[in-house]
Amino acid sequence: MITVLSGGTGTPKLLQGLKEIVDPEELTIIVNTLENDYFSGVYVSADIDTVLYTMSDIINDELWYGVKGDTFVTNERLNEIGCPELLRIGDIDRATKIQKTQLMEKYGLTKAVEIQAEKMGITSKIIPMSDENSDIKIITDMGELEFHDFLIKHQSQPEVLDVKFSKVAPAPGVVEAIKNSEAVIIGPSNPITSISPILSLDGVNDALKETYVVAVSPIIGSDSVSGPASKFMKALDIEVSSIGVASLYETFLDNFVIDNEDIDKKQQINQIVNKVTITNTIMNNLGAKKNLAQIIIDSIP
Ligand code: GDP
Repeated sequence: MITVLSGGTGTPKLLQGLKEIVDPEELTIIVNTLENDYFSGVYVSADIDTVLYTMSDIINDELWYGVKGDTFVTNERLNEIGCPELLRIGDIDRATKIQKTQLMEKYGLTKAVEIQAEKMGITSKIIPMSDENSDIKIITDMGELEFHDFLIKHQSQPEVLDVKFSKVAPAPGVVEAIKNSEAVIIGPSNPITSISPILSLDGVNDALKETYVVAVSPIIGSDSVSGPASKFMKALDIEVSSIGVASLYETFLDNFVIDNEDIDKKQQINQIVNKVTITNTIMNNLGAKKNLAQIIIDSIP
């Protein structure tokens, strides 16, 4: 079994490649839940839904949010009747969220996701990192902001001074999945708001130390490929580069995959992690996604 730690954009791109070259039944995906919250009366777990849609081939992979070709009848009607949504939720996507909200009330998040994955014909195991709700605050020059207010309402524009999130308990199966895997892949996801929350769960760091861990840098050169990762790293005084990301994963990392563009950083990263793999990590088509996935799989001893 191979376990992948995922957020909602970079790692799902890699999953599209991985599921073509590895039997999906052999994949367990532990997904960030830090940003989960209720919107428009439904529970929104954006990263989990992105992974569900990715693994069932219906993801809108232009936005990395929602379902390809979705309609917005309910969203538009809500606007018309004076109830605009902060998150623009599509009709099919909303059905997923309504079902998850109902299932959660009865069974909790982990079981709800398991049922949904099965209904979507997904054979990989998808586990939320926690069944508990996190509290995340982005401290900015405009004051303390909720995550989605920062990301959507303010378009990630404010200067970030700090990122704070509460500690939650790992969901059942998280630590066990890592322990029982021949390798763990940390995809190119936001190291602060997607991967660190998973790493902060009790038992995860120790389990990773006992497992072969390969990570892909989400930072190329001195910026993130997309999203606010670099802003968050800067606020936390972490160098915005693949070197900074490697230092975050130092205690358990066995192989770090960096982009061709960062070849000049190899020597410095080698002081943090023994093995450094240099290749193209920009996944802008299926060929690139499969290539990167194959290089990662081939590196597993
Ligand atoms: P979020 O949940 O939407 O924030 O998404 P993730 O945490 O999964 O991913 C965001 C990170 O993925 C950003 O830091 C990007 O720099 C990185 N990313 C997105 N696409 C790529 C890519 O093609 N290659 C690499 N190396 N990183 C990527």
